[in-house]
Amino acid sequence: MNERFTPRRRDGEDNTLVYAMPNQVYLDYNATAPLRPQARDAVTAALGVPGNPSSVHTSGRGARRILEDARAQVAELVGTQQPNAVFTSGATEANNIALRCWERPVRLLTSAIEHPSVIEAAEAERIPVTPSGAVDLAALEGLLATPSDAETTLVSVMAVNNETGVIQPLGDIVRLAKAAGAYVHCDAVQAAGKMPLEFDADGFDLMSLSSHKIGGPNGIGALIVNPDLHVRSLIRGGGQEKGRRAGTENIAGAAGFGAAAAIAREEAGNLSVLSEMRDRLEAAVTEAVAAVQIVGGDADRAPTVSCLALPGVKGETQVMALDLAGVAVSSGSACSSGKVKESHVLKAMGLGGDIAGSAIRVSLGWNTGASDIDQFVKAYCDFAKRKAGVV
Ligand code: PMP
Repeated sequence: MNERFTPRRRDGEDNTLVYAMPNQVYLDYNATAPLRPQARDAVTAALGVPGNPSSVHTSGRGARRILEDARAQVAELVGTQQPNAVFTSGATEANNIALRCWERPVRLLTSAIEHPSVIEAAEAERIPVTPSGAVDLAALEGLLATPSDAETTLVSVMAVNNETGVIQPLGDIVRLAKAAGAYVHCDAVQAAGKMPLEFDADGFDLMSLSSHKIGGPNGIGALIVNPDLHVRSLIRGGGQEKGRRAGTENIAGAAGFGAAAAIAREEAGNLSVLSEMRDRLEAAVTEAVAAVQIVGGDADRAPTVSCLALPGVKGETQVMALDLAGVAVSSGSACSSGKVKESHVLKAMGLGGDIAGSAIRVSLGWNTGASDIDQFVKAYCDFAKRKAGVV
């Protein structure tokens, strides 16, 4: 175990457990964004409130108030009404509910580049993507036109891909799905706070969100549900969340998620600083290292992500070398870390093993500064040139 992560008691005073922060340039926001100070304060304050939100006494009503205020903040981030947000343990659970909450058999159409929490949640037909990494609309149209025995069809497509940052053509997807009488679920985990999302106005039926991707605490997320849709709880044994998710709610988590959502919403109009930093990073590495390829570079992308392939050098090797140089990034889809496998997203884009296994993801966020980019560029170029035998 890394010494720096070892919990220890602070000497003397209040016996508080503290964790030392690693001294690293952190560019892995798509895995988990650092906790925003406002979210930390909201979590700490809520932890001091003793009640269960289902209790009718004053303490219980205090906890309920925190929960409902947070629900309103989360709903506002994606342009919907407060009662439509159901708190879950994260987006993995929200995605599972979205795909498995149906009373009757449902035909599922999901894109080939979804997160494993969609891909592995249920049997589905896959919608292919174009070489740029966006859903192939003609293929979706073809699938929707194919007859099926199921009464209900659900189209599930993410808003922004977690590995490439490619923005999916959601307007067209909703239009095609609705014309065919299908419902639409959107995993908006990597889009929330990075582009406008209008759940009500844009006609979505279900949308998944995750707190720790926007600077809130881990272990809390939400499923936004169209009020006309009946959602069967996957977890039984309580009427919480209006029967849509049993179990006592995570009040402190919700408070932190709500605080992060409120700030993410304020910042959403001002992401140009981040996109300029990302563009500067890409310009610097492509100029210095001829072999580098920007995956999805010709597509419309979220301003905070860069997927860089260095053919012939395994993504994991790059991640380790950068870690040694004090920079944190991910390779492929690093959510379930430790597993070394080629990216299913890059393979679905038609990229061969030389690219799909040699990509890293650099992701920026609320606390990224110009010096982080400088340090990344230096560490990356030093490593890439060493590998290429240039220096
Ligand atoms: N969907 C996407 C697109 C993600 O990037 C992630 C996290 N890697 C998830 C779902 C799962 O979110 P959570 O960690 O909240 O379960």
